Amino acid sequence: NREVHLHSRPDGKPSPSDFKLITSELSPIVEGEFLVKNKWMSVDPYMRGRMKDGESYVEPFQIGKSLEGGCIGKVVESQNSEFKEGDYVLGNLGWREYWKSNGEGVAKIDANLAPLQAFLGVLGMTGMTAWVGLKRVAELQPGCTIFVSAASGAVGSIVCQIAKANNCQVIGSAGKPEKIEWLQDVAKVDAVINYKETNNLSDALGKAAPDGIDVYFDNVGGDHLEAALDHLNDFSCVVCCGMISTYNATEPSAAPRNLFKIIGKRIRMQGFIVRDHMHDRDDFLREMTTLIRDDKIHWEETVTDGLENAADAFIGLFDGDNLGKSLVRIK
Ligand code: NDP
Repeated sequence: NREVHLHSRPDGKPSPSDFKLITSELSPIVEGEFLVKNKWMSVDPYMRGRMKDGESYVEPFQIGKSLEGGCIGKVVESQNSEFKEGDYVLGNLGWREYWKSNGEGVAKIDANLAPLQAFLGVLGMTGMTAWVGLKRVAELQPGCTIFVSAASGAVGSIVCQIAKANNCQVIGSAGKPEKIEWLQDVAKVDAVINYKETNNLSDALGKAAPDGIDVYFDNVGGDHLEAALDHLNDFSCVVCCGMISTYNATEPSAAPRNLFKIIGKRIRMQGFIVRDHMHDRDDFLREMTTLIRDDKIHWEETVTDGLENAADAFIGLFDGDNLGKSLVRIK
């Protein structure tokens, strides 16, 4: 069984030498267990947080131990009556070829409903993050103006389209011309900002949203949050989903320097963790499959082939290599 270990804790941006591909032996399954062969695994920015040795909402990864993360595989051997050979399952033991389970924390997936890997993206954790952030945190109202950062990524691309389906004005920011094109042509957002090609993000946002913004869906933090605070309207809201611009920082960042604006503008800033909303999963799946059927949601995948390239796929998240969901296909 091949698996990827954390070899060293990254200092700043992760590098390939922080990861190590190793081969291990898996003991045979016993009564009540089943064996899964992974087909897809997810790489996600939150994994960077788990590579740090500090207190967080999830346990840190251990050096010399296998990494973990969302994955989809096929049951290839079973001594568990609920999980049969040939079943497709969603689990959290990515970064390896095979894993054993007694079924705890593992969900069966319906391979007829959508391509398997969609259950890691649009119908999985990232799609649900977009939905929870808009529906449960922002309590999105039709007609409002929303600014979305990392707008062409796994979460952001779905946020933009759910907001459009709710008749909102959407402004998206991204860092590559092809991402900007996708946001305009496919996601049909109303205005776009290539933040890497602008000298002053706040000015660019002001031009894109002359009447201000009502919701800022923050995937980036730092300069994006600071720009948003300049243009958020009175009684507006910031959905604090992620702050990827800070994840590799070796020193805490000083921004946003204009945080005091939340007082005068009576801004509500709220963080959330999608995991706390699993009771909403049926509502999410019902609404998302309806939006997909009505042609309101399109999704992209950036696929990296081979477990041996999983670390590169992960590192690529910080270089903006992905359009839509970044996935690794395990042969
Ligand atoms: P993405 O698919 O959006 O990939 C990350 C993207 O972030 C890159 O493609 C890149 O796009 C952009 N990016 C990277 N570094 C920077 C930077 N320094 N400044 C601006 N943009 C940057 O990832 P996800 O959709 O999986 O995650 C998006 C955010 O949501 C993350 O912050 C993540 O931690 C958070 N998240 C939170 C969850 C929760 O429960 N709260 C659950 C899931 C995700 P570009 O080319 O545009 O720069």
